[in-house]
Order: sequence, then structure tokens, then C-alpha cells
Amino acid sequence: MMDLEFDRRHLWHPYTSMSAPLPVYPVSRAEGSTIVLEDGRRLVDGMSSWWAAIHGYNHPVLNRAVSEQLGRMSHVMFGGLTHEPAIELGRLLVGLLPEPLDRVFFCDSGSVSVEVAVKMALQYWQAAGRPGKQRLLTVRSGYHGDTFMAMSVCDPVAGMHGLFRGVMAEQLFAEAPACGFGEPWREEAIDDLRHQLEAHADRIAAVIVEPIVQGAGGMRFYSPHYLKRLRTLCTEHEVLLLFDEIATGFGRTGEMFAMQHAGVTPDIVCVGKALTGGYMTLAATVSSGPVAETISSGDPGLFMHGPTFMANPLACAVGVASIGLLLRQEWRSAVLGIERRLREGLAPCAAMKGVSEVRVLGAIGVVELENPVDMASIQKRFVERGVWVRPFGRLVYLMPPFVVGDDELSRLTAAVCEVVAQEVSA
Ligand SMILES: *Cc1c(COP(=O)(O)O)cnc(C)c1O
Repeated sequence: MMDLEFDRRHLWHPYTSMSAPLPVYPVSRAEGSTIVLEDGRRLVDGMSSWWAAIHGYNHPVLNRAVSEQLGRMSHVMFGGLTHEPAIELGRLLVGLLPEPLDRVFFCDSGSVSVEVAVKMALQYWQAAGRPGKQRLLTVRSGYHGDTFMAMSVCDPVAGMHGLFRGVMAEQLFAEAPACGFGEPWREEAIDDLRHQLEAHADRIAAVIVEPIVQGAGGMRFYSPHYLKRLRTLCTEHEVLLLFDEIATGFGRTGEMFAMQHAGVTPDIVCVGKALTGGYMTLAATVSSGPVAETISSGDPGLFMHGPTFMANPLACAVGVASIGLLLRQEWRSAVLGIERRLREGLAPCAAMKGVSEVRVLGAIGVVELENPVDMASIQKRFVERGVWVRPFGRLVYLMPPFVVGDDELSRLTAAVCEVVAQEVSA
């Protein structure tokens, strides 16, 4: 048996207390959409391990990609050397992303890719002779990661900016996009952001947003039209546009990238999470040619970043295999099928007192409650029903692997309906 007492005493888990941690469940293995606990209980996975495991677990094609690469080399430095997995993954990304996004910087994690994107924006304006453009403008309810620059553009309340006052860069915040996905466009939805651009463009290096879906900051879905207006405004005011597609990339919203709902292209995009099908940590920051060329023409004529494990060959190899797998499948119809079944399966929640909204987009289903859930007890009730669902705050949500079966998905939605019904009647 695993030594859970050691775990409790010595290991930090995400966003948790070291003195009063919530229970953790020991996992012995996982396959397809199933997570197997040490005691043999099988849980249907409703989380894709935080957006990442789109093909499910223990996939033979992804396993083979890792072991074949392992037989050649697990890692070599990327300074002065290169390798086939990086070149192939770069080629796939450049092919999938809309023009002119074609200069790829590989990094270790989503948060680091946001740091890299911001650094690119700052070096861009330095090189362009406008060093005063150093601030970022973003919208409330966003989430961009846990490192300091990424944190500085997370929602100031949810991100607890007060805790880090004086250390963290102070950025500009506009109201969250106030026009839902599928609602008719209202120009007022972007008024606040437009006013801030008008007032401060000479100090702003870039606007950073998660396109269409605001993830960990509130699971909100907003109008593609917002992105169209944002693109026009950024161009007008000479501000770079950064999209954080770390959660939304690789099909999750029903388009390969969420920006494609709007047909809008940023100057820099971050991808991560599902990039390796959830096998390993890897992210990429991809910029347009002009951004990369301008940075390289300035002083010191190079981009000031280079992680030790940059373009790790194992991670790149599994990334190549994961994208290959996605492209060989009818991924769009799979995601739209999940969308339809999430809508049906979660619909009963909408009528429950204490539920403020049920919303579904692509393979993401969200039940928003009026009050925060009790984490310890709700987690246990999901596990007792044989599903892995991890709510936060007022949000109970599902984002299953794309390979989830009909029965498995029904099991997930039924569990959410039952547990939410109990939660709101408690
Ligand atoms: C998860 C996430 C990040 C951070 O990625 P990590 O790999 O956890 O550092 C950044 N932005 C968004 C939108 C995310 O969902």
C-alpha cells in the first residue's frame, strides 16, 4: 500500500494546505478514460487531468512514441543542437496554426510559455524603439498560470494579488467580456477594454486573453465577436495581441484552436496542456514572423530565454504522436458528439434551485452553483459514484477525454446531476 501518511506530511499538492490537507486518492494505473485506484476501484475520468489527456491514458500509440524515442535519447540540450522530434513538432504546429504564426519557442510548462510570450512582447517594443510600452492589459476572470508574470494577469481577486503586492508587476484590468458565446453582439461588452486602450496605449505592450473560454478563472464562454473587435482595437492602438490557448488548444472547444471560432489571429500564442496528450510537460510560444524579426533586429539581437529542458525530445516525440493521432481521427465530430451529450446529460441541473447556470461548449460542460461547494465531501461523493470530478469554488465541470464512451459519459453526467442535487439541497 502507498504510504499516504508520508504524502500527507511531506508532499505539497496543488493549492493545498500542508497542515490540513484534504484527502488524496492513491492511483495505481490508468487506461482509456479510466483511473484505477490502489484498492481496485475504477473511476471514469471527467477531467482529462486538467485539459491534457485528450486521448485518454496509457494509449498504445503514445506509449510507443515515448519508448521509441527513449531508445534513441531522452534528452540533449537544445543550445547548438537540434533533433527530429522538435523539427517535426514545430512543423505540425506551424501547419495547424493560422498564418502568420510560424516562429516556435518550446518551453517547459504553460506558465513558462506565458512568461516567454510576455518577454517577447517587451523585447519587441524595446527593439521597435518604444521602451515605454511595458504594461499588460487583460480582462478580469482570467487565468494564465502561477509564475509571477503569469500571476500578474490572473484575475486579481481569484489570484490573490493582495498577497503579493509590491512584488508582482501591476497590470491593467478591464471588465471580463460581457457577452456570452452565442449571444448577439453588444458593443458595450468591450467598452471598458476600449477605454483603457485609448487612455494607456503608449504604456501597453500587449493585451493577453484566453480566447473564447476563460478556464480556471471561472469557466466562462464569451462571444467570438469580442475577439474580432479586440484584434481591430489592438492593431489600431499599436498593441500586441497575445492569446493563451493552453487550455483551449487541440480541439477542446470544437475548433482546433478557440481563436478559430472568431477567425482571428494574435501576434503571439501560447499552447501547452494537451500538446503532449497529457503525457509530459511541454508548451510552446509561437509568434508571427514580424515579431520574431523585430526582436532579433534589436539590441542584443537575440531572445533572452533558454530553459535547460527546452524542446525535450521525449516530450516533443509524444507531442508529434498526439497531434498525429488527433488528425487521423474524426476529432471534430467526436467533440461535437460529447457536446451534444453533455447538453442533454447536464440539462436537469439547470432547473435545480441553487444552480445559477449550466453551459456547454465543445467537450466542456459547466454547472455553476450559487454557493461554493464543500470540497472534501463533494469529492468523496463523486468517488463513491465511480467518477473523477474535481469541482472548484462554485463550479462543477466536466471535460472528459475525447475517447470517452457513451456509457462512461452518461455515468459522468448522471453523477454530476445527483451530487449537485444533494449539494444544493443540503
Ligand atoms: C493551465 C493553464 C496555464 C498554466 O499552465 P501550467 O502548465 O500549469 O503552467 C496557463 N494558462 C491557461 C489558460 C491554463 O489553463
